[in-house]
Amino acid sequence: MSDCVFCKIASGEIPSEFVYRDEDVFVIRDLNPQAPSHLLIIPTRHVVSAADVSDPALWSIVMSATTKVARSLGLDGTKEDNGFRIVINTGVQGGQTVSHLHLHLLSGRNFGWPPG
Ligand code: 5GP
Ligand code: ZN
Repeated sequence: MSDCVFCKIASGEIPSEFVYRDEDVFVIRDLNPQAPSHLLIIPTRHVVSAADVSDPALWSIVMSATTKVARSLGLDGTKEDNGFRIVINTGVQGGQTVSHLHLHLLSGRNFGWPPG
């Protein structure tokens, strides 16, 4: 998608530092972090949102990358100061602002429930 910021990052048109990258997915730091560590896990292929995933294998790809990166940060959720939150904002009411599927991996603080 020519006007998609995450496609531009994937292609290198917008330079970015990759925390992780393989042939299907890449991980970058969020421009506007909402936690001490705030990463975005993004499939390279343009898919608009979670509601548009037609190939279930894509979930395996993005979730595997997310937990791999979480483990690489030393996060396993077993200790009091060691959990994380995965968020997928979807659509307007879900708070999605970039129309290219991405997972937020947030860590480094306590997260409230219910979410805001
Ligand atoms: P959403 O609101 O769609 O769930 O999340 C989009 C996220 O992308 C936001 O947290 C926003 O800060 C982040 N973002 C938007 N543009 C860029 C960018 O050019 N680079 C990076 N690293 N993050 C971006
Ligand atoms: Zn895109």
